[in-house]
Amino acid sequence: MEETIFSQIIKGELPADIIHEDDDVLAFLDINPVSPGGTLVIPKKWSRNILDIDAESWAKVMEVVRMLAPAIKVAMRADGVNIMMNNEPAAGQIVSHSHVHIIPRHENDGVVSWPGKGYPEGEKEKTAEKIREVLVATTE
Ligand code: 5GP
Repeated sequence: MEETIFSQIIKGELPADIIHEDDDVLAFLDINPVSPGGTLVIPKKWSRNILDIDAESWAKVMEVVRMLAPAIKVAMRADGVNIMMNNEPAAGQIVSHSHVHIIPRHENDGVVSWPGKGYPEGEKEKTAEKIREVLVATTE
């Protein structure tokens, strides 16, 4: 297991704007998203990426991706979403802990890819709250 920023977030040692947490999976806002509302979904059990993650962890991560994508799309008033994963540095992976990106997309938004950009002061917290509200309203 490698200690990363994400393992610190799992342990609560680093703050994050958490969208969803269960026994096996954590989802939180990307601090420098490609597009606002961009969310990272990670297994709590460490693996590096798609090349070594076990089938059970992958299935759990993908089920949370499936559950969150519609809520993120609604909350961000997006027209679509990309589901992306970077595997190994050559493919753009910076953090060595498996993670799937949910990226809200808008018609003609011109979003290409990384690097992302941060939020204006206070906007990240508001964005996380907006997504959580839709999630609660649509999963009750
Ligand atoms: P990768 O390029 O490895 O697929 O994506 C890693 C992502 O993690 C990047 O989009 C980056 O903005 C995000 N990230 C890096 N450090 C932190 C952090 O401390 N907190 C959060 N919430 N996201 C981070």
